Amino acid sequence: MDDFRIRDGELHCEEVSLAEIAAAVGTPVYVYSTYAMCRNAAGLADALEGVDNPLIAYAVKANSNAAVVATLAAAGLGADVVSGGEYRRSRAAGVAPDKIVFSGVGKTEAEMALALSGGLFQFNVESFEEAETLSTVATQMGLTAPIAFRVNPAVGAGGHAKITTGAAENKFGIPIGDAAEIYAGAAKLPGLNIQGVAVHIGSQLASLEPLEEAFAKIGELIAQLRSNGHLIATADLGGGLGVPYNPDLPPPPKPEDYAAMVRRATSGWDARLLFEPGRLIVASAGVLLSRVIRVKPGAEHPFVIVDAAMNDLMRPALYEAWHKIDAVRPNAETWTANVVGPVCETGDTFATARSMDKVGAGDLVVFRTAGAYAATMSSTYNSRPLTPEVLVHGDRWAVVRPRVDVEAMIAADSIPDWVTGCTAGDSS
Ligand SMILES: *Cc1c(COP(=O)(O)O)cnc(C)c1O
Repeated sequence: MDDFRIRDGELHCEEVSLAEIAAAVGTPVYVYSTYAMCRNAAGLADALEGVDNPLIAYAVKANSNAAVVATLAAAGLGADVVSGGEYRRSRAAGVAPDKIVFSGVGKTEAEMALALSGGLFQFNVESFEEAETLSTVATQMGLTAPIAFRVNPAVGAGGHAKITTGAAENKFGIPIGDAAEIYAGAAKLPGLNIQGVAVHIGSQLASLEPLEEAFAKIGELIAQLRSNGHLIATADLGGGLGVPYNPDLPPPPKPEDYAAMVRRATSGWDARLLFEPGRLIVASAGVLLSRVIRVKPGAEHPFVIVDAAMNDLMRPALYEAWHKIDAVRPNAETWTANVVGPVCETGDTFATARSMDKVGAGDLVVFRTAGAYAATMSSTYNSRPLTPEVLVHGDRWAVVRPRVDVEAMIAADSIPDWVTGCTAGDSS
């Protein structure tokens, strides 16, 4: 089921016309379907049927809009956060503290204190040095920090080198071979309650095999840690499940197959399982809606210049990501074109030699599967207004992040009164 469908010749999000949103809000704009998010979340929860009391902590970095996080919190999901800002967003959106996992390789003392005072399910600690700092912070506050160590299983996987996190050379986690020693050291630190292990090997995984290999190693580690006297009660299996972006490529594993593998790989673990899905929950629930500014001839194919750019949707420039591009009012004609944004970077290219709906100046297009790692990465590069976001639910819709206009951006900068130019002798 797709919540972005053609009705009366025109693409809609649920029951709302995308042309209506474009007319009211302007373009570019992100549009999210509530139904799609909820169905993705329920799909994973249903697939995990039989797993005892799983904690599904939505990876907030995939899409941290308050309305999105609030929707998922109301649907029962927890939050996997990677900064103090995401912790605060999650709490503000109604996520209960006992459903929050704090991940990330560079937590500061202030972030640790914030989460400790507000409460959380666990910190996923990524080094012994971080455990020492957390121990100090917790002890000073008279509190105990619940922790798991994120273990690097030396199994790398992911749709692109830049989203592989579990290879031995990646910055994430503690090497699995050092885990026994690090757990033993951490057990001597005050203010920590070691309750589990965590792993997350990469994103947009195309196959379950690397995950299963990593989980097998984690299973052995849990047994070893328990025999060393640690009480391991939780096992955080991370996120990483891929979603289909290109309908012409083989689809990534389905949540049902993932869940079956999880049940097989974790049987006998006797630990509460945690999951940190991001992309799986929100990617298919969003589109970036954009208008064609003009079409100019190219050496081989025409350039379709749209009003969205790499600052709005960075994935193609950052990860060579592929997004399907469709006309909002398709006219049954197709052609081969390059789709580019207006930013002054060659990397501001969304598609090269793409077979797609034929479009002309003024037409609306959508970049599909743009609900994850899209608006969250947007910036104002080239002094372009920050992209607004719209949430749809049935026939209702609302702007859930306004366009931050250029006036506000200019007002946020300041020019000190000593700025007079480059007088001679300034740097001597
Ligand atoms: C980004 C991230 C996730 C989510 O990954 P997806 O591929 O979006 O599911 C989960 N856990 C950690 C630690 C992450 O950094």
